[in-house]
Amino acid sequence: MNENCIFCKIIKGEIPSNKVYEDDEILAFKDINPAAPIHVLVIPKKHIKSLAKMEDGEGKIISKIYKVINEIAEKQGFKEKGYRVIVNCGKDGGQEVGHLHFHLLAGKQLGEKIV
Ligand code: 5GP
Ligand code: ZN
Repeated sequence: MNENCIFCKIIKGEIPSNKVYEDDEILAFKDINPAAPIHVLVIPKKHIKSLAKMEDGEGKIISKIYKVINEIAEKQGFKEKGYRVIVNCGKDGGQEVGHLHFHLLAGKQLGEKIV
């Protein structure tokens, strides 16, 4: 946990969020400023700063996060229609919140461009 991290505060319940999924290692909640009809953030509960700051042994959480993403897609009924997963990393990658998070976007035909 990081005292100043907005997503750690969401995990602790200090900042309210619209939860979509939760287990002992992962939390998923609706993005406050959605870029698509469905925009969910999937995060590890462990405070990992970014993809670039992952340490040995932390990789397992990534496959678990993708499993959770598929579960959400199935439950919310857009698994067949499709979805997009984006991870911004660092300044040039456009990362604003320094706690690893996966953007899950769905609910419409998304644009072709990713930059
Ligand atoms: P980044 O730009 O770091 O990849 O994405 C951060 C995301 O977190 C943004 O899409 C932003 O809308 C979302 N966000 C920032 N603060 C909050 C918050 O307090 N609650 C929720 N639900 N989302 C947030
Ligand atoms: Zn954090």
